[in-house]
Amino acid sequence: MAKTRKEVQKNDRWNVESFFPNLESWEAAFQALTQNKKELLRWPELAAYQGKLGEGPEKLHELLKKSFNIERELIRLYTYAHLRHDEDVTYEPHKNIYDRISLLYYDFQNETSWIQPEILQLPEKTLKAYLKSEVLKDHHIFLQKISALKPYTLTADKEHLITLAGKALQTPEKAFGVFNNADLKFGTIADEQGETKELTHGTYSLYLQSKDRTLRKNAALKLHEKYGQFENTVSELINGQVQRHVFEAKARNYPSCLDAALIPHQIPTQVYHNLVQTVRENISVLHRYVSLRKKLLGVEQLHFHDLYVSLVPDYERHYTFPEAEKLVLEALIPLGEAYCQTLQRGFEKDRWVDRFENAQKRSGAYSSGCYDSFPYILMNFQGTLRDVMTLAHEAGHSMHSYYSNQNQPYQYSHYPIFVAEVASTFNEELVFRKLLEKAKSKEERCYLLNQKIDDIRSTLFRQTQFAEFELTLHTLAEKGIPLTATSLKAAYRKLNQDYYGPDLFIDPEIDVEFLRIPHFYYNFYVYQYATGISAAFALVERMMQEGEAAKKDYLQFLSSGSSRYPVDLLERAGVNMRENRPIKSLIDHFSSLVDRLEKEFSSC
Ligand SMILES: [Zn+2]
Repeated sequence: MAKTRKEVQKNDRWNVESFFPNLESWEAAFQALTQNKKELLRWPELAAYQGKLGEGPEKLHELLKKSFNIERELIRLYTYAHLRHDEDVTYEPHKNIYDRISLLYYDFQNETSWIQPEILQLPEKTLKAYLKSEVLKDHHIFLQKISALKPYTLTADKEHLITLAGKALQTPEKAFGVFNNADLKFGTIADEQGETKELTHGTYSLYLQSKDRTLRKNAALKLHEKYGQFENTVSELINGQVQRHVFEAKARNYPSCLDAALIPHQIPTQVYHNLVQTVRENISVLHRYVSLRKKLLGVEQLHFHDLYVSLVPDYERHYTFPEAEKLVLEALIPLGEAYCQTLQRGFEKDRWVDRFENAQKRSGAYSSGCYDSFPYILMNFQGTLRDVMTLAHEAGHSMHSYYSNQNQPYQYSHYPIFVAEVASTFNEELVFRKLLEKAKSKEERCYLLNQKIDDIRSTLFRQTQFAEFELTLHTLAEKGIPLTATSLKAAYRKLNQDYYGPDLFIDPEIDVEFLRIPHFYYNFYVYQYATGISAAFALVERMMQEGEAAKKDYLQFLSSGSSRYPVDLLERAGVNMRENRPIKSLIDHFSSLVDRLEKEFSSC
C-alpha cells in the first residue's frame, strides 16, 4: 500500500513552504493581486493603456513593467497551487486554489491579449524608434520578436476576424482529446497464461516492454484495432487540424505551414529539412539495428511489438535514492564545482525533489518552478535504472531554470521550447557514460547499451519519422490533395518500411498508429525532440574534447534563458543546428553503440 501524503517524511517532500509557508499566506497574496478589480476587469490599470502605446516609449515601458509584474506574481501563485495539487490530486483545498488561480491566469491572458496586436499595429517608424529607445532597452529582444511578425500581421479588422474564428478552429484538437482520453476504451487482453489484463494508455507502454510476447502482441493488436475502427473519423480530425494550419498560414501570407510554425521562433526551415534529409540518408544504420534485434531476440519474424522489450530482460539492479543522487552528481563533475554544489544543495538541504510515490500523487516526473521559487522536481522514484536517468534528466531542466532565473531579468528567464530538452538529455548522456564506465559485468554493459540505443531510436529516428509524416500531410493539403484514411495509412506504412527496413514485418494494423499520436495536433512540435538530443550530444562531445572553454560556453547557454533566438543560443554554446553535422554525429554514435552491443553479445 502506498503511503498517504501525511505519512511522507519531511526529507522526501519538496520544500514548497519556502515560498508560501501555508495556505493562508497564499490566500493573502491571491487577494492582494485582485484588489483593484473594477466592474468586469480585474486589472483596470492595464486596460488604461489600451490605444495609447503609440504615445511614446515611456508609455509602453510602464505598461510592460506593470504587466510583467502581475504575470510574475500570478505564476508564483500558480506554481505553488499546481505543486500542492499534484501531491494528492484528490485533496480538495489544494484543488480549490489550483482551480481559482488557473481561472485568474486565464482572465489575465484575456485582459492582456490586446497588447501584442496593438504593438504590431504601430507605424513602422514608431516601432523602429522603440527598438532603439533607451527607455525600452530591457525589452528590446521582446519587442524584436514581436516586430519580426509584422510582415505576417493583417489589418486590425482582419486580425479581429481571425481571433473570432479561434475557438471554432480548436475543434479538431479538442475533439481528439476527449475521444482519446474519455470516450475510447480498449477493454481487456490475455497474457501468455491466459490471464485477463486491462488495456489502457498507461498499461499499453508497460505491456510493450514485457517479456511475455503474447501479452505484447495482444496489446499492440487490440490497441491499433480499436483505433482502426475509427480510422475515418480520426483521419478527418487530423485533416481538420492540418486545414486549420493551411488557413492560418495562407491568411497571414506565410509561404507554407512549416514557415508559419517556425518563423515566429526564428528557426530556419533548413533546420527541419536538414534533420529529415540527414536521417533519411543514413537510415541503413537503423535497418542494421533492427536486424541485430531480430537476431538477438531469436525470433523468426520481428514485429512492431518486439521493438520495445529489453534485449537483456532479466537484468535488474536497484538503486536507493541517495545512491541515485550520488551517481548523478558524480557523473556531472565535468560541469564544475559550482554546478554540482548547487545541485547537491537542491537535492539535500533545499529539498527541490518530491521523491517517492504516495497515494493519489500525480504520476510520472517533471521539473517545475517559477522565477521566485526553487526549480522543483516531481518523481515517483522506484529505484530502477530508468529512475536514475529520470532524476538526471529532470535535474538538467532544473539547473537550466536555476541558471536562467539567476542571470536573466524575469521577461527573459523562460528558455524557448526548441532548446528545452538540451540540458536534460545532456545530463542523461553524462550519467550514461559514467554508468558504462563503472559497469562490472557484461550483462550490465549490454543492458546499458541496449537502453541507450533504444533511447536514441525513439528520440531521434522515431520523432524524425513523425516529423516527416507531419510535413507530408501539410504539403499534400497545401497542394489541395485530400487527406483520407486510405492515403494517410499508405503514407505511414511507406514511412515504416523506409525507416525500419526489410527485417521488420509490418502487421497491417500498425498502419493506423499515427491515429493515436496527440503530437500531430501540436503544429510541427516533434522535430524538436530529435534536434534537442542531437544538440545535447554535440555539446557533451565538445565539452569532453575541449574542456574548460566548452564548459564555460555551456554554462553561459544555461544562463541565457530566452535572451536570444534559440538557434543563436545553441550556436553560442558551440553547436550549429543550421548544419547537418550534429545530426550526423549522433547517427554515427548510434552506429558505434550498435557495433559495441553486437560485440558484447557475441563474446558471451
Ligand atoms: Zn524533459
